[in-house]
Amino acid sequence: MNRLLLLATGGTIAGCADDSATLNDYTAGVLGGESLLTAVPQLQDLAAITVEQVANVDSADLLFEHWCALVGRIRDVFLADPGLAGVVITHGTNTMEETAWLLQLLIDDPRPVVLVGAMRPSTALSADGPLNLLQAVQVALSSEARGRGVLVVMDGQIHGARAVTKVATQGVGAFSSPGQGPLGWVDDAGVHLQMTSPIGAVPFSDLALPQQWPHVVIVYGCVEPDARMLTLLLEAGCQGLVFTGTGAGQLSAGERRALEAWPGPWPLMLRANRCGAGPVRKNPDDELLGLLPAGCLNPQKARVLLLLASIAAMDHAQLATLIGRSELLS
Ligand code: ASP
Repeated sequence: MNRLLLLATGGTIAGCADDSATLNDYTAGVLGGESLLTAVPQLQDLAAITVEQVANVDSADLLFEHWCALVGRIRDVFLADPGLAGVVITHGTNTMEETAWLLQLLIDDPRPVVLVGAMRPSTALSADGPLNLLQAVQVALSSEARGRGVLVVMDGQIHGARAVTKVATQGVGAFSSPGQGPLGWVDDAGVHLQMTSPIGAVPFSDLALPQQWPHVVIVYGCVEPDARMLTLLLEAGCQGLVFTGTGAGQLSAGERRALEAWPGPWPLMLRANRCGAGPVRKNPDDELLGLLPAGCLNPQKARVLLLLASIAAMDHAQLATLIGRSELLS
């Protein structure tokens, strides 16, 4: 029988409310991973699943130490257990895309790593967690999912780690891959993944993660942003900065002046956008301001990239080369 590892981290899929009609007022991260499996007896026929509880938190409270634990465990188990079919991670939906993208940049193995969560707590009428978990296991066991990178399975859709994002606060169909759509679907007839070009090399597969992570922040563009915040962040010594620029990643004149006036070396800086879809491309005066375009990465994923680039002690030129070359980032 196929073997899978389930790493449980909490979230709404493990959440409980006082009443089955309560959908929003509940505590995330209550049930353990074993209870999630017990709720889906069909899983016993599919695979022998070992459960490990990495955390049991609302994903807004996930910490870098949880990320280190997940990455370390997945790397170790893939190395030590060639017979393991794949890994499923139960996770809160709010930051699932960040964890999926982090793992995509760090885990180099063709075996599936599948993240899954739920929009309704386990106690709800029509809770979506059990079916999502069953389908995540089906995807993790399917040969089609091999070599497709880290995947997110929600509401019968299979999304890739780079494009997937949470786009709704309510409702079971809360995930989307803007500009691209899901990579595939899972249903009664099995797992269907569309043919796509190869995923590309994993850029940080050898990177060792530290205990102390760099200070990388996101600044949000709007009408008359307070550019003093930017100066304060630079003075505070932040090691990375993601601009959520307006339109195609544009900074305001005030923000540009604050960067120009900064006397010290700039940290690593990426321009992403707040539109939710579409790329940010190289701009002729990016060089003058120490900026690099984030391509199709949303701000929270651009931050994950900057965290890892900073841990890897990359400089501006090295990050520019990585962005220019990587199929994964384009
Ligand atoms: N607050 C929850 C979390 O992200 C939301 C969810 O899982 O749907 O952990």
